[in-house]
Amino acid sequence: MSTTLSFSDLSLPEEQVTNLNELGYAQMTPIQAASLPAILQGKDVVAQAKTGSGKTAAFGIGLLNAIQVGEFRTQALVLCPTRELADQVSKELRRLARYLANLKVLTLCGGQPMGQQIDSLAHPAHIIVGTPGRIQDHLRKGNLTLNDLKVLVLDEADRMLDMGFSDEVNHIISQTPTQRQTLLFSATYPVDIEKMSANVQRSPQRIIIESAD
Ligand code: ADP
Ligand code: MG
Repeated sequence: MSTTLSFSDLSLPEEQVTNLNELGYAQMTPIQAASLPAILQGKDVVAQAKTGSGKTAAFGIGLLNAIQVGEFRTQALVLCPTRELADQVSKELRRLARYLANLKVLTLCGGQPMGQQIDSLAHPAHIIVGTPGRIQDHLRKGNLTLNDLKVLVLDEADRMLDMGFSDEVNHIISQTPTQRQTLLFSATYPVDIEKMSANVQRSPQRIIIESAD
């Protein structure tokens, strides 16, 4: 498979490439080089690469190009297994989006006051990052709708399954449009991930990055 190595080889907006350079991202990591061309074409991707390989920017750059910043609706949802990981993803997305002044990223996790989150949801965020239980709670209570969702990301999908979140994840997916792009990222690629991919994705491109260790 042919892969590009530089972000400037992708047809990204100039301000985005400048921002990546300012973040010190001179070259794409292998998972970014392998997945971004398909992600930017709107395809479903299931990708496995070890921790620390730059998976957040792989889907993050994709999200930022799929979103219409002028439309104040939730267009992307990233599900993460833990609050700590959701906070890290939100932080990285905000860094990646520094060139988009009006982009709003909202983090919704358990263990945080519900009332405050409901107040935040009064002004829709373009991107919501959260844990499955709390996102399901907000959907059930009618605080959040995902009718305008364009991209769904299941991050650390192997850990979400290990932690027993598959019912919550499936319920959330049932509330999203079938025309969505679904990106599934995982540090490992057990058979459960393959099954999940078959259930929630359409003709996904499968990318496995072998690690040297
Ligand atoms: P993963 O989700 O695969 O565990 P992360 O997305 O958390 O990995 O990225 C790990 C680290 O690599 C982060 O500190 C991130 O800022 C950095 N990083 C991501 N992409 C690049 C890149 N192209 N060049 C340099 N550093 C990068
Ligand atoms: Mg990650």
